[in-house]
Amino acid sequence: MAAPGDAPCSGEAEPSAGGRGSSGVEVVLLSDPAVPAPLCPHGPTLLFVKVSQGKEEARRFYACSACRDRKDCNFFQWEDEKPSGARLTARESRNQRGRPPLSRMQCVERYLRFIQLPLTQRKFCQSCQRLLLPDDWGEHREHQLVGDVSVSQLRRPSQLLYPLENKKTNAQYLFADRTCQFLVGLVSTLGFRRVLCVGTPRLHELIGLTASGDKKSTLKSLLLDIDFRYSQFYMEDSFCHYNMFNHHFFDGKPALEVCRAFLQEDKGEGVIMVTDPPFGGLVEPLAVTFKKLIDDSHQEMPIFWIFPYFFEARICQFFPSFCMLDYQVDYDNHALYKHGKTGRKQSPVRIFTNIPPNKIPLPTEEGYRFCPLCQRYVSLENQHCEHCNSCTSKDGRKWKHCFLCKKCVKPSWIHCSFCNRCAVAHHSCDGPKDGCFICGERDHKRSSCPNISTLRKASKAVRKQKQRKSNKMKMETTEGQSMNHPSVTGRRKRRERAHQYLCS
Ligand code: SAH
Ligand code: ZN
Ligand code: ZN
Ligand code: ZN
Ligand code: ZN
Repeated sequence: MAAPGDAPCSGEAEPSAGGRGSSGVEVVLLSDPAVPAPLCPHGPTLLFVKVSQGKEEARRFYACSACRDRKDCNFFQWEDEKPSGARLTARESRNQRGRPPLSRMQCVERYLRFIQLPLTQRKFCQSCQRLLLPDDWGEHREHQLVGDVSVSQLRRPSQLLYPLENKKTNAQYLFADRTCQFLVGLVSTLGFRRVLCVGTPRLHELIGLTASGDKKSTLKSLLLDIDFRYSQFYMEDSFCHYNMFNHHFFDGKPALEVCRAFLQEDKGEGVIMVTDPPFGGLVEPLAVTFKKLIDDSHQEMPIFWIFPYFFEARICQFFPSFCMLDYQVDYDNHALYKHGKTGRKQSPVRIFTNIPPNKIPLPTEEGYRFCPLCQRYVSLENQHCEHCNSCTSKDGRKWKHCFLCKKCVKPSWIHCSFCNRCAVAHHSCDGPKDGCFICGERDHKRSSCPNISTLRKASKAVRKQKQRKSNKMKMETTEGQSMNHPSVTGRRKRRERAHQYLCS
């Protein structure tokens, strides 16, 4: 079957049945290594299979590894499809256009020129999210500029750049100071000398700021991130433009070598990886990537993988030696995930690690305490249950033991004699009688079901398909005028422009 995308010059349109990100899809991990995946602007694509009502459909397809929204990358190809020559040519030129406007080398050269400029000539264009050299000023005259960019501003790019807000593909949630300081302190306390920052630009930056002091004890760090705006601020040995869903270095072999050299310094000793991937991302490809990075380090590299607590079962499936710390990771620009003390909601984001938890002290001034029985630090309200013989809370609240379920459950749950399990007070009793509501397994609840993301996507897909249809109708009636609609705020326009720059 030919997809509509076969028409030369059209994009990589997908069949109307919907593709990646719009339905219950799962990544196929054991794809044949002899068959290389086709490339999109974000590197090798991943092989997916659609799952509906628990059944895999036979036909598999390739789609972008990084973008969960087809607006950002609409690559689509059936696994068994042979794209025409014209389509391959169109794809190749699209991949070319998808490159950042400046090469990594050019960015470094520009940066070196920039820091030589007198303060009054150092300008940053907010509209384009770029550092400007005097030659560029003309082009950006009408834009929003920041002048007198100081050295300390240059060393804090995460404050100069605005966080990307694209919800599905690349939302950036920056660590709150409290959390960032805690992480830097912790890796130093644990004796690490190098930190591989994967999707943690603010941590990378804080390490750089802290490093200025005495040389011997300083931490080094290398940032790998898909947001290439950061390449303007760092030399080649401290930033690589990278896709963590397919372990793709956008600047090829030299960048991969930078990463390898960093990992293998001191025979691979003293290095830790800290990663905070987008939460919408698929756990499987991330796990595959992290295993490759571990291999490159030639050691059992310690890892901090920052992710919401309800992914515990998924993560431990791939890394059985990982455990989840009670520490609540806070963000600056995430209304929901800020610290609970001021009455705001508690953050569900935790640190997963292969370092024994008894080695990881959590700040007692924030209420964490050491449980000698569990041999780990736990949240203030996480109480040791003598029946479970463990501090059982996952969400930071005090959990209660249910003798019928023989385990601790969330404080708001009550034991339902009809369902024969604990559940929220007002639930409908028509789920599976025992165990997980999703797959019926008895060893976990819905919240830690390995199938949850598939299901969430599937139900989203139905909603989205409906929405897409109605959007399409809207587009058809308002196209043309919508582009210049005056109600679009300047801020949003700026973002869109910069987004174009990022994705062009
Ligand atoms: N809390 C972190 C930021 C986490 S937000 C901090 O403060 O440093 C997620 C980060 O992952 C962002 O920096 C984003 O640009 C990056 N990212 C998103 N998708 C990515 C991908 N496919 N490959 C690499 N990095 C990615
Ligand atoms: Zn892509
Ligand atoms: Zn305990
Ligand atoms: Zn208990
Ligand atoms: Zn119960």
